[in-house]
Parts: sequence; C-alpha cells; structure tokens
Amino acid sequence: MNLGKYSLGIGDRFSHQGIAQLRGIIRANQSGLEISPVWNKSNREHIYVHSHPADVRKEADDAVAALGYTGNYFVDADHINLSTVAPFVESADFFTLDVASFIGKESSDSTVFTFVASCAKYLGKLNIPEINHPFEITEDILVGIAGKFLAATQQASEIYNYLKENKGNGDFITEVSMDEVDSPQTPVELFFILKMLSDKGVPVQTIAPKFTGRFNKGVDYTGNVDQFAIEFEEDVLVIDFAVKEFNLPRELKLSIHSGSDKFTIYPIMAGIIRKYGQGIHVKTAGTTWLEEVIGLALAGGEALEVAKSIYINALGRKGELCAPYADVIDIDDSKLPAADEVADWTSEKFANTLRHIPGHPDYNPNFRQLIHVGYKVASEMGSIYTELLKEHAEIIGCCVEENIYDRHLKRLFNL
Ligand SMILES: [Zn+2]
Repeated sequence: MNLGKYSLGIGDRFSHQGIAQLRGIIRANQSGLEISPVWNKSNREHIYVHSHPADVRKEADDAVAALGYTGNYFVDADHINLSTVAPFVESADFFTLDVASFIGKESSDSTVFTFVASCAKYLGKLNIPEINHPFEITEDILVGIAGKFLAATQQASEIYNYLKENKGNGDFITEVSMDEVDSPQTPVELFFILKMLSDKGVPVQTIAPKFTGRFNKGVDYTGNVDQFAIEFEEDVLVIDFAVKEFNLPRELKLSIHSGSDKFTIYPIMAGIIRKYGQGIHVKTAGTTWLEEVIGLALAGGEALEVAKSIYINALGRKGELCAPYADVIDIDDSKLPAADEVADWTSEKFANTLRHIPGHPDYNPNFRQLIHVGYKVASEMGSIYTELLKEHAEIIGCCVEENIYDRHLKRLFNL
C-alpha cells in the first residue's frame, strides 16, 4: 500500500465534516496535485467524544462515495501503541506507531554494542548529499543515540509485527511518531533512527519527529523560523539519503503533527519539498472542529448561543480542559474575553475572533486555543450539538472547506 507523495491528515472530532474536508482536497487536486486524504483519530479523541474506530472508516467511505472521489484515501489509527491498537486493526489502514514514551528507556549493553558496531562505516565525517557541512560522528555519539532510541524503535517493530500478524503484510501504511516529547530530534538522530527502523524491518512510510519550536494546537508556529527551516531541510535530505542507504520505502516522507494552522512555516516547507521533489504528510486535527464552532456562530440564533456557551463553559473549566494539552497550548489568561462580554457578541464578532486570519483585528489566538481544547464541552452536549451540525451543515461545510483549501492547501502547495 502506497500513501502517495502528498497527503493531508484530516482529523474530525465529531465525524460530520468528511464530505466538506474532501471537497477542499478535491479542489486542490483540480490543479493537478494528487493529495491523498487521511482521516485520522487518536484513541484519546475517541475516548473524549465516545466514538469508535469504525466510525472514522464509515465517515471516510461515505465521503468518498458521496463525492465520487476516485483517488487513494486512508484511515489513520493515530498515536496508537501496543495497548491501544487492537480496536483499530479492522477499520484502519494507516497506523501511527507512537513510541515517544520509549525514548530514553534502557536497552541491553549487547544491543547497544551491536548497533554501534553496525554503524562503523559512518564514524568520522558523515556527509549527507546536498547538506553543505559534514556531521562529526563518534562512538560516544552513537552510544548516546542508541541509548535514546533503540528501545523506541524496538517498540515500533513490536507494534508493526503485531499489525503484520493481525492485519496482513503490506496492507497498511506505517508511520512512526516521536513528536510528543520535550526536545526535538536532530537530523543526525533522525538518520540513525531510520537505520534502526530498517534494521528491525519496519517499512516506515512517514516519520513524525519533534521539530524545533512550538506547534501549539490550532494556532500558528512560534519559534525560531530560520532554525526550523535549516532543520526541516536537513531532515528532508537525511530521509532521501536514508531511503537509499537503508533500503527503506521509496515514498518515505516527513509527517508534520499538529500541522494545522502553521501558516508561517508553510511557505518554507513548500519551498523545500519542491526544491528536492520530496513528499510530505501534514496532520491537521482540531482545525475542523473550530470551523464547526465558527459555522454555528455564523448561523446565528440558537446555534450562536451554543457556540457562546461552549466558550463560556470552557472558560469556567479551563484548568481541567487544558491539562491534557499543557505542552501544546499557550494561553495568555489576561487576553481571554470575559464570559459576559462574549455573551453580547454578534455572529460576526464571534466568528472573527475565532477564525484564523493572521492580522485580523478581532482574531484572538488565546480564545481560539481555549475553544480548541473545549471539544469535550460540545461532546457533553450530545445530540444538542450534533443536531445543530446537521441543521447547519451547509454553512459549516463552507467554513470547513474554505479552511482546508484556502488557508491550508493553498499555502502548503503554493496554489
Ligand atoms: Zn502527534
């Protein structure tokens, strides 16, 4: 199974926007691209919204059938591990093996020794084609990398072998993710991580490292953009070299997690992948849920009141809702509008505050991030919320499609 050069992960918390999301991708593909849609949902999201892996498969199949879409599409069991993978086996055909929690776990001296010995040819100056400076590789560096990543890559192989046994060899896409950690992996670390995965027989097609800077949920990238650009370019070149060097799948590419709304770095990524003819997978998640709330606000009446009550409720439960996302949000409390203020807002004021238009005078990233983590509130509303999604499907669908196409794909692929 082959993911294709370009793919977009489209998370959809409540599984109502599959058609609108696919419309956005089809519009981009009309300019000659072939972007594969990948509907992704993690175990954590399923728990919060009380959904099941099979719901995501149904959403994807239904959207594809409704629009007569004939390209490849996938269903991603996002961030699974050995203890959570089983319920996804049947419905998913893309598995994101999250091994972040195994980084730094001890491996036996003999496995470390074997790995270091197998890297003898890279000792000294390691030159990666197109990178204009060599990397200095010492035995100490290799021992350090082995100590950090052998257990994690071993875990990836265990999950992969479980899938191979239960899903069938080759019938799925394998992604390995290490993004949910504190410190970024360097391009050199990425090179040896890929060697480990190859050694262990994991045919990784996408890899999600942790990059420099902050990838906060639902808002733009913050961090050193120049440093990100260097790191991203080196990662792309490392992957290209590793594919040949370690006989990994030809289509191996970077996967950018929490990739929605990172508008500042989209042109950089677009330029680099075009320069080297490489592919990319970008995972979006809550950005579609935020468009649902924008659409409800624009619909006015009861729907606007529900949108407001999601914010007001989330404001009162900020600590609880933010806790699981502490590492991936940055909310300045002093910039959150008060509940009674929001209660008086018009549709336009609410939508403009939430919609991600950088530089718009009403746009408030703090407001946006709080609603991003507030989907639990909507989930608790049950059918009150989902019935409104059905009732206002048209206006919400326009928001979702516009967000995917105009704000994301146009920037990512220079359309
Ligand atoms: Zn992730």
